[in-house]
Amino acid sequence: MGRVAMVGGPQKVRHAGIFLGRRFYSMTLKVNKAFKCPKCGHEESVEVWDTLNVSVSPGDKELLFEGKINLFACSECGHHAFINKPLLYHDMERRFVVQYYPPESLDDPRFYAAFGSGGEPTGYELETVPPSGKYIFSPHIVFDIKEFVRYVWFRDRLPSSRSSPETG
Ligand SMILES: [Zn+2]
Repeated sequence: MGRVAMVGGPQKVRHAGIFLGRRFYSMTLKVNKAFKCPKCGHEESVEVWDTLNVSVSPGDKELLFEGKINLFACSECGHHAFINKPLLYHDMERRFVVQYYPPESLDDPRFYAAFGSGGEPTGYELETVPPSGKYIFSPHIVFDIKEFVRYVWFRDRLPSSRSSPETG
């Protein structure tokens, strides 16, 4: 499966997260954007996710496992391609965040300005996040979308903290 780039050029690095007052990541963020088919040039409007919040939209997890998140499908020639853009996965119950960045990001010097020396994303408004939400500052960062899915599997199959003998 190939890849498609967004019409309109490269995007700047942005940590996918929103703060509305004291609430954060309160929704699954998806928009429709225009893409040009790399095979036939047909322009297509595609649903694109910035953030998957599986606590708010559990069905999105199935779409992710089925490879249907950020998938370009040309209605003209049938070509399928992964839309290679940053994607954030947020599970509010299990309290973890996975962040995918396209591997090409690593070649862009500007990319590194968005992180601290420990690899932590910078630019968040710390005071707007309650202590229980601090885990969002330590996303598991991957540069491979398959690894992104594998990591979600890994976390999903761990015993939840409520049933753990250490904490229960
Ligand atoms: Zn096409």
